[in-house]
Amino acid sequence: MVLIFIDHTDSEIKKSSYEVLSYGTALAAQMGTSAEALCLGTVKDDLTTLGDYGVKKVHQVSNEALNQLDAQSYARVITDAAQSLQADVIIFSHNQTGKAVAPMVAARLKAGLVSGAVALPDTSNGFVVKKNVFSGKAFANVSIKSAIKIISLNPNSFHPKKIGGTAVVEQLKIDMDSPKVKVISVDKVNGEVPLTEAEIVVSGGRGLKGPENWKIVEDLAHVLHAATACSRPVADSGWRPHHEHVGQTGIQIAPNLYIAIGISGAIQHLAGVNRSKTIVVINKDSEAPFFKAADYGIVGDAFEVVPKLTEEIKKL
Ligand SMILES: Cc1cc2nc3c(=O)[nH]c(=O)nc-3n(C[C@H](O)[C@H](O)[C@H](O)COP(=O)(O)OP(=O)(O)OC[C@H]3O[C@@H](n4cnc5c(N)ncnc54)[C@H](O)[C@@H]3O)c2cc1C
Repeated sequence: MVLIFIDHTDSEIKKSSYEVLSYGTALAAQMGTSAEALCLGTVKDDLTTLGDYGVKKVHQVSNEALNQLDAQSYARVITDAAQSLQADVIIFSHNQTGKAVAPMVAARLKAGLVSGAVALPDTSNGFVVKKNVFSGKAFANVSIKSAIKIISLNPNSFHPKKIGGTAVVEQLKIDMDSPKVKVISVDKVNGEVPLTEAEIVVSGGRGLKGPENWKIVEDLAHVLHAATACSRPVADSGWRPHHEHVGQTGIQIAPNLYIAIGISGAIQHLAGVNRSKTIVVINKDSEAPFFKAADYGIVGDAFEVVPKLTEEIKKL
């Protein structure tokens, strides 16, 4: 059986969970087995609707302590659930939760783990999973040989597909030790789309000259319901908060659309954004390296181009 972990935040199921659902059900069909989902804590969403993505059963461990991520508690509960449900394969999203939890579950189950998978495994001869390596510069095909196999799927690598159906929700009783850590409060930046979840990201670099000029980036992000990001020197100079820094040493993202404004496209920046589905580059230097990675490019002064772009998008 393929067990798919459903991740949520603020009691809403994350978009990446629908990707792993479709991936897990496709894998189960390929292996001639069933796909079931596992949800820890409670969510606002109706879990029976996950059947739309192909799972027949959703196991829920409704314990208040699991409403927020505590990686150690999650790992313990997922391990026990996987054992009691006799899962052969466990699927996570390769997001913050998956990165924290999947390795712990793998260690507990003595299971082989491939993190950051980008395609369905080849099961024709063994179990070989394709993943990104060297910040997306190459692929590796990794063979998992353990009895239980764990995969974390790179966000935006597998398109979620509704196939119709309703799932049965079953409560799963797992005894839990009291958590070793307790979340006392969460301070959130208000009114922004979280960068790691965003479908569209508008990003600014040193070409914007200073923090006082960021309004053009924010205005464009606002009309597109996008998150904002920046290059590393921008965060290092204190023009923007560090949580917006994308790249090799920052956050790695894979939105559907990445708009880079006044960013040169250094390899360390590309390492964090080159998995974006579509890249648009706005730069006044036609020789800027970013144009080589771009799907669309505008050679021009950001201070002229971006407000015009925002106005045109507003009209739409
Ligand atoms: C170990 C290591 C790790 C690193 N990690 C990261 C990382 O994670 N993320 C990251 O971003 N960088 C990282 N860097 C830094 C990286 O090498 C680059 O220095 C950095 O990305 C450059 O930032 P930038 O493109 O904003 O600035 P610049 O290189 O200064 O480029 C500014 C661009 O703006 C354009 N421009 C100027 N004025 C305008 C205008 N009016 N309109 C339009 N375009 C204009 C210019 O033509 C230029 O292309 C790392 C470096 C090292 C050594």
